[in-house]
Amino acid sequence: MSQETFCSMISMSEPGPGDGGNTGSWRVLRPVIDPEKCIPAKSGKAACFNCWLYCPEAVVTKTIGPTIDYTYCKGCGICAEECPAGAITMVDEASFTKEEN
Ligand code: SF4
Ligand code: SF4
Repeated sequence: MSQETFCSMISMSEPGPGDGGNTGSWRVLRPVIDPEKCIPAKSGKAACFNCWLYCPEAVVTKTIGPTIDYTYCKGCGICAEECPAGAITMVDEASFTKEEN
């Protein structure tokens, strides 16, 4: 069975507003993906995606390369812990300008 077929058979969630609203406003640390280190981003191949798999909020895309929906990312850091390439850095939210938010 191809991975695409398998993925279409399992249940998947999409990020959306729950009781907590736009939960990204809770975040103190922001995960930032380095495309120079990220395996699918640098290889152009569908590989790894640990960040997508382990994110408890389902806010990481399974794309080449992966992106994060900061509207709902709570900054838990699980993606950074599970990244085998050390491609995700947790950066202090205070270091971003208003335009970057
Ligand atoms: S876990 Fe790391 S290397 Fe793997 S897809 Fe995510 S950012 Fe890229
Ligand atoms: S910090 Fe947590 S919520 Fe945000 S993308 Fe990583 S695993 Fe998901």
